[in-house]
Amino acid sequence: MIQSINPYNQEVVFETKEFTKKQTEDAIDAAHERFLSWRKTSFTERSKLMQAAADELKKNKQEYAETMTLEMGKPISQSVAEIEKCAWVCEYYAEHAESHLADKTIKTDALESYVSYAPIGVVLAVMPWNYPFWQVFRFAAPALMAGNIGVLKHASNVMRSADNIQKVFERAGFPKGCFTHMPLSSSKIDDVIKNPKIKAVTLTGSKPAGSAVAATAGSEIKKSVLELGGSNALVVFEDCDLDETLKTTVQARFQNTGQSCIAGKRLLVHEDIAEAFTEKYVKAVRELKSGDPMAEDTFIGVMARPDLAEELEEQLQASVKAGAKILIGGKRDKAYFEPTVVTGVTPEMSLFKEETFGPVIGITTFKTEEEAVDLVNQSAFGLGVSIFTEDKKRAKKLVPQFEDGAVFVNELVKSDPRLPFGGTKISGYGRELSADGIQEFVNKKTVYFK
Ligand code: NDP
Repeated sequence: MIQSINPYNQEVVFETKEFTKKQTEDAIDAAHERFLSWRKTSFTERSKLMQAAADELKKNKQEYAETMTLEMGKPISQSVAEIEKCAWVCEYYAEHAESHLADKTIKTDALESYVSYAPIGVVLAVMPWNYPFWQVFRFAAPALMAGNIGVLKHASNVMRSADNIQKVFERAGFPKGCFTHMPLSSSKIDDVIKNPKIKAVTLTGSKPAGSAVAATAGSEIKKSVLELGGSNALVVFEDCDLDETLKTTVQARFQNTGQSCIAGKRLLVHEDIAEAFTEKYVKAVRELKSGDPMAEDTFIGVMARPDLAEELEEQLQASVKAGAKILIGGKRDKAYFEPTVVTGVTPEMSLFKEETFGPVIGITTFKTEEEAVDLVNQSAFGLGVSIFTEDKKRAKKLVPQFEDGAVFVNELVKSDPRLPFGGTKISGYGRELSADGIQEFVNKKTVYFK
């Protein structure tokens, strides 16, 4: 049995039986069978269904949102917003998939030469619990619109949400087998990737999970896309708009109770404003409302599992032992972690060099632009960076110096269906969303007429 345990009150909210080997093979066979007809459908047909999925999400957003909140402790208002964002990505690809995958003419000495984008078949998605719907939809919407088929191995603590995602596609009218959730533990994933009917795999999650999945995919010569989290820096220059920067940097760290790959986890502040900014930051964090994740006005819920909160506590303690100072918060009660601000963080400390997946932020000060860039790039992760300055010229000059997959100026790093999303270094490889995302799992076929 695989269980979902509400991290707010430790009650079992859902139980499901793991698929047997036979059930898994049957599901993949059915998915492959479906591919043989699905790949022949027109963009118009697929678009209609994808728009229906968007409508279904909007219609029943409360139902889907409540399940997510019960399973992983996300505040309900943020769960509802997540479902709405899933509707957006469905609508985006319903409208744009055809143009993103239109033949691309390339002039050569041929009579006619072009690239066509053909679907590849059944793609496995291994997904995490932090955005139980969004992580899946940003894969599924482009995959299905491209003519591929999705099979999902979701995180063990959000299997009810996984059921619900399959339900969205069924209620929207997608033919059976277009999208299948397979309740499986991670130990079974090796065999799934090796199944000849699985053509590629995408994973969002931790580095160990990503490297295990990519190793098997590599040994089978199957394509993988990895989105493995980050330790984004928020770089606050002395010439920033203080109030706006404050609002944005608090949101960047503490939304989703800090459990986001693109959260700003390292707050780098210019020393000229460090004292004043830190004081205001602590005040803003003190005002964040913790509470029952089901309450509309809760901003900080609980972390998804007590063991994840324990891990965060260890990272915090190790940094304090190494000389960092807690300004607010720092205490844990089961899966609840107080919103925490720590100062005096240096690059050797856990809070700087590791990914912290919860409501804790470490502050480091810098004197020069060069030092700021160096601190940003010292991270082994490379998902994104936010810089805050009113000087556009300065920002333009700095952008090429960052090694990350995204640079946001005066804004938190966020995903948007229209923009490519993905990282460098140990944050992974490949891109999701936009034209780049839909082109990851297609055969870019070269066509040449003499
Ligand atoms: P994991 O990376 O272990 O889980 C993500 C997904 O991968 C789950 O579906 C999980 O299944 C699966 N998985 C885990 N190991 C394997 C494996 N060897 N082979 C195949 N699939 C596997 O995340 P955790 O839940 O353990 O969280 C640990 C840390 O990972 C967090 O604290 C955070 O730092 C990072 N993380 C990053 C995320 C991001 O958005 N980038 C999202 C979630 C976590 P199962 O649940 O059954 O183990």
